[in-house]
Amino acid sequence: MADLSKLVALSRRFGADPEWVLAGGGNTSFKEAGELFVKASGTSLATIDAAGFCAIDRARLDAMWAASYPADTEAREAAALAELMAARRPGESKRPSVETLMHGLFPQAYVVHTHPAAVNGITCGKAGQAAFESLFGEEGIWVPFVDPGYVLAKTVREALETFRSRHGRTPAIMFMRNHGLLVAGESPAEIEDLSARIMSAVLSKAGRRPELEARAVDARALAEAAATLARLAPGSAIRFRADAETLQLGASASSFTPLSSAFTPDHIVYAGHEFLRVDDPASIETAWADFIGRNRALPRVIVIKNLGVFSCATDAASAEKAMLLYIDACKVAVYAESFGGPEHMAKEKIDFIRNWEVEKYRSSVNTGT
Ligand SMILES: [Zn+2]
Repeated sequence: MADLSKLVALSRRFGADPEWVLAGGGNTSFKEAGELFVKASGTSLATIDAAGFCAIDRARLDAMWAASYPADTEAREAAALAELMAARRPGESKRPSVETLMHGLFPQAYVVHTHPAAVNGITCGKAGQAAFESLFGEEGIWVPFVDPGYVLAKTVREALETFRSRHGRTPAIMFMRNHGLLVAGESPAEIEDLSARIMSAVLSKAGRRPELEARAVDARALAEAAATLARLAPGSAIRFRADAETLQLGASASSFTPLSSAFTPDHIVYAGHEFLRVDDPASIETAWADFIGRNRALPRVIVIKNLGVFSCATDAASAEKAMLLYIDACKVAVYAESFGGPEHMAKEKIDFIRNWEVEKYRSSVNTGT
């Protein structure tokens, strides 16, 4: 058995820092000789131990590139997943991260993939790619948003080949449109140094910063809104916060435009693909019914002008995650102002994530259902 203690420490360090990863997102890997150890699906980096990694046979993983897959999306992902499961080392029973194939493409020993809000200000910015090219174009690759799983790995593979033929070396940085960051290095120290350099370079280009300090609340409006939500979603866990950014973004339908759709798959999975915004507590009921009619799902985040934001879910942990990912969306929206303004995911990509079997699995593991 390989010594995974350095990988565990590295994973926990990034997993426990909300600037890099939220709600159990992100994944890490280590490779040596013929084996790749990658985060198992449904485990959380902050608390992971050696048993949280899935052992993969690298030769079998690489052999996936010689196979051909069906054109139909569902059939393709099912076939790729079956191959990925079959590439596990004998005796391995855990399900590897859906991003395993992507990890295997980087020759470096350590790979850390995260979803930092500051970096996503660039990956979700209309002028994000240009900003990336000027900051990191010589040492990294940019990949467009494509369906997660096999198609994403294929896109990364092509981008790596293009970079190698142009620069004669392997990149150590990858920015992924509407998704996140990947850093690769031969040691945890290399990953740390590179990550710190990326974060400070990105922040040096960010103008306005998110204003998340608490704001005073109108107690009567809060009580009215909370009572309405308790009636509309009986038995649900409900969380509330009021901060400067929420009040500013929620002030009008037009100021709310940056939050009018989803930035990343994480936002969709944990906070829903659409936030509900209303002008006052009295409007919640009608807007709630409209939302359900439109989306066939309950709202998970409800922003009320001049008051604050509620999150609503079947249990406390899910309500807290929805709030965390809402705040993350606010941060991304603000950082993206410095990179050409926010660019949301395309509607068909949002629909793909909403229907995606793997995300449903991850969501169910994370909520313990
Ligand atoms: Zn990811």
